[in-house]
Amino acid sequence: MSDLRDLYQDVIFDHYKAPRNCHELADANHEAKGHNPLCGDTITVYLRIEEGIIKDAAFVGNGCAISTASASLMTEALKGKKVAEVEPIFEDFRRMVTEATTAPHPELGKLEVLAGVREFPVRVKCATLAWHTLQAALKDERTPVTTE
Ligand code: ZN
Repeated sequence: MSDLRDLYQDVIFDHYKAPRNCHELADANHEAKGHNPLCGDTITVYLRIEEGIIKDAAFVGNGCAISTASASLMTEALKGKKVAEVEPIFEDFRRMVTEATTAPHPELGKLEVLAGVREFPVRVKCATLAWHTLQAALKDERTPVTTE
């Protein structure tokens, strides 16, 4: 188990040091800003959606390792997904990081590396910030979302 935990931490660290899709998206047709005042994480999520499919996803932000890795993993996971698939994935993800269950979440794929944050309740908001901001982007909300 500790090997698995090390592996997860390696993946999180890798996504923090070299975040994927970490840039503005010139042809984005949805975007929103988010803020986690508890930790100071800020993020802007960009999406290009065509015919109900997320063709491209990117983010820029300033945040801790968890919020950055979570946004990086999220944008990777979103590409090619239908907009309708986002809500169930987020619901599974939210449950994984908040509920004290050891049940595996194979449907979440790589996102499962963030399961460990459930042991650090203060970090849950770091891990979910990108997802809350994503939801705001899908609804084109003008007011920045906040986790508080
Ligand atoms: Zn944070």
